[in-house]
Amino acid sequence: MTSHVDERPVTIITGGSRGIGAAIAERLAADGHDLLLTYRERRDDAERVADGCRAAGARVELLQLDQADLDACADVVPEAVRRFGRVTGLVNNAGITGRIGPFLDGSIEESELVFRVNVLAPMVLCRSAITHMSTELGGAGGSIVNISSSAATHGAPNTYIPYAASKAAVNVMSTGLGLEFARAGVRVNTVSPGTSRTEIHAAAGRPNAPDERAAGIPMGRPGEPHEIAGAVAYLLSDDASYVTATDIRVSGGK
Ligand code: NAP
Repeated sequence: MTSHVDERPVTIITGGSRGIGAAIAERLAADGHDLLLTYRERRDDAERVADGCRAAGARVELLQLDQADLDACADVVPEAVRRFGRVTGLVNNAGITGRIGPFLDGSIEESELVFRVNVLAPMVLCRSAITHMSTELGGAGGSIVNISSSAATHGAPNTYIPYAASKAAVNVMSTGLGLEFARAGVRVNTVSPGTSRTEIHAAAGRPNAPDERAAGIPMGRPGEPHEIAGAVAYLLSDDASYVTATDIRVSGGK
């Protein structure tokens, strides 16, 4: 943990207003990070998370962002640099599943939005973060964690195949970026949660999905957001200084 302002890590977390993003924010604040949190529309929730992080000693800034707008995504890292002077970490956490249901019931328009928010937006954010962080471009290095999903490898049949495909794309993008920028001081990894207790399932039309799926999870229960946050904190820390282009699965064994 560091206290001098110029030594503190500065980390962007997308979707920091609730769920896994909020738990990551609380954990990183406790670990000594300053934070820029994005939210889509729930400003009050974002303010509550920010207040909790400030109480832990973090400087926190909020930024409204709809990741369907890729031009707006391109402004996030420059805006964080304007507010904090530099950025050392990026957590691409915000994501959507689309409605839960059989593949043939979904529409290609919905799949297009899922790919825009879950893949293209993180790709835009990675581009600008790497441009800022790369030691080959005059930066000081950094760490990027992209939040994927255990669905990326099991495919989520009868549930949300386009979402699973979008997270598989996040995995392979992160592997490629981790390797391409390994000598430029930028580490890129993924954390893949299994079903966790957040509101994402209600937005997909199945609020009880975590409990419905519990029997199929080897540990017999869904994850809690704070259990995902620890893996993210590790990958952003100096303890992970030799870790890149890898995935940490936090999924109760599934
Ligand atoms: P959540 O509870 O639904 O929260 C989503 C967060 O993302 C909120 O902060 C929301 O902002 C923001 N967001 C939603 N749509 C957005 C958009 N179009 N543009 C910008 N921001 C947007 O989700 P979660 O369950 O914490 O999921 C976080 C990440 O973990 C996602 O990438 C998800 O795919 C992944 N994941 C979740 C689970 C799970 O079971 N929960 C499992 C595996 C992977 P507002 O609050 O303003 O709406």
